[in-house]
Amino acid sequence: MSALPPGATIGILGGGQLGRMTALAAARLGYRAHVYAPEADGPGALVSAAQTVAPYEDADALGRFARSVDVVTFEFENVPAPALELLAALVPCRPGLRALSICQDRLLEKAFLAEAGVPVAPWRAIHAEADLAPALAEVGLPAVLKTTRLGYDGRGQAVIRSAEDAAAAFARLAPHPLILEAFVPFAAEVSAIAARSADGAVATYDAVENRHRHHILDLSIAPARVPEATARAARDHVAQVAERLELVGVVALELFLLPDGTLLGNEIAPRPHNSGHWTIDACAVSQFEQHARAVAGLPLGPTGRHADAVMQNLVGPEGMALWDSLTAVPDACPHLYGKAEARPGRKMGHATHLLPLGALASGAYPAGLPPL
Ligand code: AMP
Repeated sequence: MSALPPGATIGILGGGQLGRMTALAAARLGYRAHVYAPEADGPGALVSAAQTVAPYEDADALGRFARSVDVVTFEFENVPAPALELLAALVPCRPGLRALSICQDRLLEKAFLAEAGVPVAPWRAIHAEADLAPALAEVGLPAVLKTTRLGYDGRGQAVIRSAEDAAAAFARLAPHPLILEAFVPFAAEVSAIAARSADGAVATYDAVENRHRHHILDLSIAPARVPEATARAARDHVAQVAERLELVGVVALELFLLPDGTLLGNEIAPRPHNSGHWTIDACAVSQFEQHARAVAGLPLGPTGRHADAVMQNLVGPEGMALWDSLTAVPDACPHLYGKAEARPGRKMGHATHLLPLGALASGAYPAGLPPL
């Protein structure tokens, strides 16, 4: 596929804020976005040229969508594989089915990370209750039992502190199989983002440090306050992931940083990621623009950072309560996703607080944010 000409249409599966910010970036490059989602007028559709409202199982609607766009991408990795398979027969899909399938299944994902040279915590597949005891003996306690599919923001997992916890967690967590992982006593959670173009060029952004609240990302600190070699390793790991996935688009890699400086891979997201929102305001070319460029067949843009940044998620009613004051903070760039109702736990928007380059390393920190 050659580069899409101005005015071409990028189809986006999924109606959320990641699609919204991709559509906005695509519009800046002269492209139109067409969002396909089961719900009408979601964050993505509100800023797109067209929307299809239909379930991911509707073959007719998928066919019509495929014929109305020039390329298809997705903004969440739980797109049912049959939907992407059907689309891929009609129109280029970026990333493709292989990347999606690996990232939809924690067992495939862990095996893939190890192959890509990214260290991971010890893990075992749990197909039946009888697998638990030998797996716990090998992995050790405490451990984390997780569903292999459809888990996010800490859902679909349980910490196992004793052998007795394990049977109850196995019964509660579904669907099976599950994955048992060693509990990682991490010092920090770090993530890194890579973009890969259709011609195989790879570019990475500075690694960031992530803080969670109630299992939901609260803050991303860019750059991560880690030694240079650690930051380099995080970028190298995500570049490897992008290459080995042969991905076209953007991919994020979540990592655990151990107290001794070791990085362990946890999760791959084959799409723009919440921990990369800071790139909109602190980089010339954001993760969303890189994604749009890659799927449209354009060359990648620069990934350099012109400011330090702390991205603050605005979650639920509490997050929305900060909105008015945030719009008045001189160095904050506020973003809202256009969601009507601020339900608890729902990501409503974010604000990127900018600081001069190098300020975070010298101990500066934006006023009014939760302390680190
Ligand atoms: P995940 O859905 O795998 O991203 O996990 C959500 C969160 O649970 C992570 O951000 C960690 O804070 C925690 N977590 C997941 N896996 C482990 C693990 N093996 N050891 C310790 N904490 C974990």
